[in-house]
Formats: sequence, C-alpha cells, structure tokens
Amino acid sequence: MSGQPMLKFVTVERDMPEKRSADMRREDFDEIYAEYAETKAKEQSSRCSQCGVPYCQSHCPLHNNIPDWLRLTAEGRLQEAYEVSQATNTFPEICGRICPQDRLCEGNCVIEQSGHGTVTIGAVEKYITDTAWEKGWVLPISPAQERAESVGIIGAGPGGLAAADVLRRAGVQVTVYDRYDRAGGLLIYGIPGFKLEKDVVMRRNDQLAQGGVTFKLNTSVGEDVTFADLRAQHDAVIIATGVYKSREIEAPGVGGKGLVRAIDFLTASNRKNFGDAVPEFDSGELNAAGKRVVVIGGGDTAMDCVRTSVRQGATSVKCLYRRDRANMPGSQREVQNAEEEGVVFEWLSAPKGFIGDPVTGVMVQKMRLGAPDATGRQAPEVIEGADYVEGADIVIMALGFEAEALPSLWDEPALPVTRWGTIKAEFTSGATELDGVYAVGDIVRGASLVVWAIRDGRDCADAILSRFGAAALAAE
Ligand SMILES: Cc1cc2nc3c(=O)[nH]c(=O)nc-3n(C[C@H](O)[C@H](O)[C@H](O)COP(=O)(O)OP(=O)(O)OC[C@H]3O[C@@H](n4cnc5c(N)ncnc54)[C@H](O)[C@@H]3O)c2cc1C
Ligand code: SF4
Repeated sequence: MSGQPMLKFVTVERDMPEKRSADMRREDFDEIYAEYAETKAKEQSSRCSQCGVPYCQSHCPLHNNIPDWLRLTAEGRLQEAYEVSQATNTFPEICGRICPQDRLCEGNCVIEQSGHGTVTIGAVEKYITDTAWEKGWVLPISPAQERAESVGIIGAGPGGLAAADVLRRAGVQVTVYDRYDRAGGLLIYGIPGFKLEKDVVMRRNDQLAQGGVTFKLNTSVGEDVTFADLRAQHDAVIIATGVYKSREIEAPGVGGKGLVRAIDFLTASNRKNFGDAVPEFDSGELNAAGKRVVVIGGGDTAMDCVRTSVRQGATSVKCLYRRDRANMPGSQREVQNAEEEGVVFEWLSAPKGFIGDPVTGVMVQKMRLGAPDATGRQAPEVIEGADYVEGADIVIMALGFEAEALPSLWDEPALPVTRWGTIKAEFTSGATELDGVYAVGDIVRGASLVVWAIRDGRDCADAILSRFGAAALAAE
C-alpha cells in the first residue's frame, strides 16, 4: 500500500463503476493515512515550533497536550507520547482519524497561520495510538477495586462509551444499553468505513467489555425497558442517545420512491460492509450503484453520502447546497476530497420539488446570499426565473438531525428539554434537574462532533465519581 491517498478520481463516469464497496474496503482505508510511518510522524512532529502559545491545544475540545506528544514523537519516545496523548483522550486513534482538524487543532496551528502548512496533528495522534495498540502499550481496563455503585448508560456512542471507560476504571458497575446490535453509535453506523475503519471501533468495544462493562444491545429504552426501571436499578443514569430524527423538507414529490434519508443510506452501507443482510441495499433502494445521485445538504453527513455514493459505483454524484462554499457547515477538507473524487457541487442551489415516482429529477431553484439573518449568517434568497431540473435516480436528504421527543417516548414528562428537544443539562457535568440523571453528547449539544461527545462523557463520569465520593476514596 502506498502512503498516498488512493482515491484521486479524474472523472466520475470513468472511474466510479469499478469502485465497488466490498472489495474496496481495505484500499479505502489508505485515505486515513494508514501508512503514516515513524519517519513521517517524526518529520511532522519536529515541525512543531513549540511556540509557547499552543492554540492547537486550546482549540482541541479535550485540551490534548499536543506540543508535548509532538515533541516526544519527534524524539522517538513513542510510548511516552502515547501515555501523554491517552491521558486526556479516551479514543485518540478515533479522533485522529475523524476530527475536523481544519476547524480545531490544525486550523489553529501557529505554523499554519504563518502560511507554512499545519503540523498534521490528527495523523500523528492516530499513528501514536495505532502503534500503542500494535506494541501492546494499551493496557486492559483493570480497576484497582470494585465499587458497589452502578451506572446505567443509555446509548453506546462515543459519549456513552467515554463515560463508561472512566467509570469502569474507577471500579463502578457499568451497564450500557443500546437499541442497535453493535456498540459504537454513529462511529459504527453513521461515519463511513473509508473514514473510520470499523475494527478500530470494535477493538475499543471489546476492551470495554473485557474490562467489565456490561453491554445490553438490541435494547431500546422506552420499548424493551422503561426509563423508570433504569433509574430504579442504577445509582445514576446517563442519557447518551444522540440525535436521530432526520430533518425533512416540504416540497412537491416528497415521499416518492428514490428519496431517501442520509442516515438510512449510510447505515445500510455500513451494515453491508459488516456482511449483514441488508435487503434495502440489495434491492437497490439504498444503493447508489449505477445511479445518478443527488445529495441535498452541505454538512459532513452530506459529504459522507456523496463519497459513499462514489464508492458504491454511482454514475454521477451531485451535491446541492443552498449557500456558497464559504458558508457551508461541512469541513472544507471533505469538500476537497469529494471534488477530487469527481463529485460536482452545485452551490447556491436548493430543491423546489421532485419529479417522478420513482424519482427522475430534482427541480432546483438558484439562490443568492442576501442580508445577514438574526444569527449573522447571510440568508439565502431565491433568484426568480433561474430554476432548472437536475436528473436523478436517487436523492439523498442530508438536512441535519434533531432530537427525538424523549420525555414522551420514555414517559418521563419531568425530563427537562430545550425548545429544540435536546436535554437541558449542565455543560460541565451533564447533570439534569432530575436527581441522578445526566446527559452527554449530541442529545445535549444537538448534532455535534465525536470529540465533544468524548469530552462530555469524561466530564460527566468525573462528576458522577465525585457524587459517589470515589475521588476522595481514590486519594486515600
Ligand atoms: C453521517 C455522520 C458523519 C459524521 N462524521 C463525523 C466526523 O467525521 N467527525 C466527527 O467528529 N463527528 C462526526 N459526526 C458526528 C458524530 O458522529 C456525533 O457527534 C457523535 O457520534 C455523537 O456521539 P453521541 O455519543 O452523543 O451519540 P451517537 O453516536 O449518536 O450514539 C447514540 C447511541 O444511542 C443509541 N440510542 C438512541 N436512542 C436509544 C434508546 N432509546 N435506547 C437505547 N439506545 C438508544 C443509538 O443506537 C446510538 O448507538 C458525524 C455524524 C453523522 C450522522
Ligand atoms: S482530539 Fe481532535 S481536535 Fe484534539 S488534538 Fe486530536 S484531532 Fe485535534
């Protein structure tokens, strides 16, 4: 395998058909710098100027001690670098792969700011921890003493798992409930395998299970078990359910065949890559192979959909976004990757309706950016008379996610929620107004990032340990 990303397509039509998902898996992973060898890691790390004003660190949600582990890597002291890196991050190899570094640590690297190109912090972080796994430096979870208290965690995404890790290491009895059949949340069924290999996540799931975390999978709280039961059973409960209600649009043709939700499309693709039976994929309903794909949205989920479509063998992939490139919410790096793979972006373009059932096209209206709205962002306005039809065999809606109505679904009207349906919780501890009930990750922040979910999970676990008096005990 070469050190260069493999997927530099020239045109969509010429190169896409041979890029079928199953046989592409290993090859796709090269993109996430699989061959970041020690020399490269050292070379990059030694570019860190140890500037003394580590903006990278302050812009990392976990405040990772980046300058120190870069220095240690540059000196070849990889095990120490790993120790420093894992001290603040539960899943460094995952963040190294999928954090939008251009908006976080790397975007604030002083060298980047001075125009010399950032130190590739994420790639080094990934390299250090992958090496630690290979060399056996990642130790099993083995609490020094068992504690009587138990914590129930609803949701096995990064927020729930980060909390589980901290609590279990302190000897707390931890049970994680998830409605899916595999732990990992969006790390498993949302984010595509070409960005985050699934064995990297499963390895962490195994580590937690082997360390004594009990997983109750295929268990939907509110259906298979009540929220009240969990509160009665555990000394504390953490809600880490993420946000899964897809935003919809109202337009003529919505509801027709061929219009699919991004999360369904990505889940089907991830399941297929696990080797699961996925009838909707096999029937073509959730499969872009041989189709003209239009993805609607400008966030990272939309980028994942366009890039997954490319790998499934779509004949063309277009992305419609109602603002311009500079104002899109997704990572610029992802757009660049998608463009290199042949995806065409139609900026300032919004769907007005859908033609055919099954769909044959999208009625597109052209937009311009008008005056800033209340949030300060320029609001898109329709340009009259500029509509056109974009041909499509499948339209993937990636318009964002909202919280499900947990208080009613869980028959707990006292569960405090915001007007967006997210749970009201203290940001530093995750504590809600319900005694012993905490919440972390996307269900508190709204659709956010893995690294923020990890941060929340860790902070919440610390708060629960303080509640249990564990911190004091540990200090004795
Ligand atoms: C397609 C996509 C791509 C993304 N790419 C990136 C990226 O590249 N980088 C990045 O940093 N972030 C990315 N994100 C965002 C990131 O995945 C989330 O911010 C993060 O996973 C949130 O973690 P969480 O633990 O709060 O929730 P989740 O990861 O959503 O996990 C929640 C878990 O709760 C379970 N659950 C929900 N309801 C119940 C219930 N009633 N009973 C039992 N279990 C329940 C779910 O099954 C799920 O396993 C992406 C998101 C999407 C959708
Ligand atoms: S966790 Fe994310 S933001 Fe922090 S150093 Fe790692 S890649 Fe950068």
